[in-house]
Amino acid sequence: MTKIINDLKLDFNNVLIKPRYSDLNSRQDVVLEREFCFKYSKQRLTAVPILAANMDTIGRFQVAKVLAKFNMLTVLHKFYSVSDIVGKSREAYFKNCIVSSGIRDQDLDRLYKLIKKLSLKIICLDVANGYTQRFLDTVKKVRKDFPKVTIIAGNVATVEGCRNLIRSGADVVKVGIGPGSVCTTRKKTGVGYPQLSAILECSQQVHKLGAYVISDGGCVVSGDVAKAFCAGADFVMLGGMFAGHYESGGDLVVESGKKYKVFYGMSSDYAMEKYYGGVADYKSSEGKVVKVEYRGRLEKTVKDLLAGVRSACTYIGAKTIDRMPQQAVFIKVSNQLNTVFGD
Ligand code: 5GP
Repeated sequence: MTKIINDLKLDFNNVLIKPRYSDLNSRQDVVLEREFCFKYSKQRLTAVPILAANMDTIGRFQVAKVLAKFNMLTVLHKFYSVSDIVGKSREAYFKNCIVSSGIRDQDLDRLYKLIKKLSLKIICLDVANGYTQRFLDTVKKVRKDFPKVTIIAGNVATVEGCRNLIRSGADVVKVGIGPGSVCTTRKKTGVGYPQLSAILECSQQVHKLGAYVISDGGCVVSGDVAKAFCAGADFVMLGGMFAGHYESGGDLVVESGKKYKVFYGMSSDYAMEKYYGGVADYKSSEGKVVKVEYRGRLEKTVKDLLAGVRSACTYIGAKTIDRMPQQAVFIKVSNQLNTVFGD
């Protein structure tokens, strides 16, 4: 018999973070860098735990160069060739780059070459549905072949999905099925899990197992990034919030004197045409193509984003990002913003 979960599950815009006593006198007192020690690889990493998504318009060297100034990380998209990546590997910002890969034979061949050539410390295995036997087997194989490499794997959205990935060898699980700004999975398939609840539920289990969680997708404003950290995300991955900039990919178009940049989902018709010569008959396009108003230099957006997270920390008395979940209480709301003059 079909089952139904009756608890209402929540997205970022269904809650606010309750203000509370704070002994932080200034946003400058907040430390955004966090130190990580990974379950299997035993490696350490100190970074501001916000990641650029491995979409071809976002996970780019140009973006990495800017984010590295803030010690943030960029997950490079899968369509850079081995020589593209090797060619940039001596750049200072490359230490803040993470190579991503799919799981087809040719993807793994590319990944293995890169791991060996560049002694990569962190990699990201990324598929649309990370809770399949084939994906779990691939994570197991990569873990066995590279015991000391930190493995990020996803995407999943349930506690069970996370647990299985971690048991297969993932140090970090990427959580998010359907929340993305240019994702149409929920519309096309009816499948998904509200992102705030997914993070609240998954992070508890993942932390018990000694691993970390990335909240991937659905953040629209810096307040959402703060909510993701409060819900227990160790890292937050952003696509749309970094789109539309000088450093982002996508064509620049001018309409009625206004500039836009094209941004699209990696499963959109547009991306599939670009990289795979079209959408295979048995697949559906699960991404959309949009025009994002041109937003100038990324650095300005990043400063504003980090200031927002710092400010959230001061409102709840959290000196560091990893203190946010202990300090935060969410309030369910029916209306979070006053939109009388727009958003
Ligand atoms: P955003 O920050 O834009 O809300 O979400 C970014 C995330 O959306 C990416 O990291 C990736 O997980 C997801 N994503 C990107 N392109 C697509 C797509 O075409 N379809 C789906 N279902 N998800 C996508």
